[in-house]
Amino acid sequence: TPEIKPLVAGNWKMNGTREQLNELKAMAEGVAPLAGKIDTLICPPATLLYVATALCTDSPLKIGAQDCHTAQSGAFTGDISATMIADCFGTFVIVGHSERRTLHGESDALVRAKAEAAHAAELVAIVCIGETEAERKGGETLDVLKRQLAGSVPDAATAANTVIAYEPVWAIGTGLTPTAADVEEAHAFMRSELVARFGAEGKKVRILYGGSVKPSNAAELMAIANVDGALIGGASLKAADFLAISKVY
Ligand code: PEP
Repeated sequence: TPEIKPLVAGNWKMNGTREQLNELKAMAEGVAPLAGKIDTLICPPATLLYVATALCTDSPLKIGAQDCHTAQSGAFTGDISATMIADCFGTFVIVGHSERRTLHGESDALVRAKAEAAHAAELVAIVCIGETEAERKGGETLDVLKRQLAGSVPDAATAANTVIAYEPVWAIGTGLTPTAADVEEAHAFMRSELVARFGAEGKKVRILYGGSVKPSNAAELMAIANVDGALIGGASLKAADFLAISKVY
């Protein structure tokens, strides 16, 4: 979308010990010349959050988390809150990633409550949605996207506090990607849904594509209408790959 500044975001998932900070350092340096054109973000595991933000103080590279609880504190052993992420100088949080939805049974309502908790802590929520392979084969993709957008995105969403990430579940970590025509159709549909619900604000909300984005396919995917950046899993672990993808802009 021409008037939207793209966002290239990396999700390290449960990967990365302190050694991985060498890659982060290279990314922080490498994205500096791109800051006028795009925003860049890495979401390391929570254990590295604080040291990661400290490492990026002189870089435009933003740091975020991969999940948050719906509450800001309390008796929730093992969870982290949006307030804690903000306290570590994180500025974004991914919510509703398909691995959370599938492996932890997260519903649209829960994802929405997490996004609201993110907003309350002044974090940008990256709300992930996307159809499974069975839903794609059953011709239900747009219905699923409609339902997930309606259920997972808070009413108070704005272009400043919310990013949508379209990640077909069958394309995550598989090396498979939808055709350009399928991505274009899905993104045009999500845009129209956002505009129907949020009016002019919906035209400005960033819609990322995610699912097996790599240096060799990024240029084609990022050129598709209404694709306002990428959410990258595997290829965000290596600075060379993350920077190569960022440089398609
Ligand atoms: C993801 O998990 O958000 C993702 C898109 O993973 P990958 O790029 O490895 O497919």
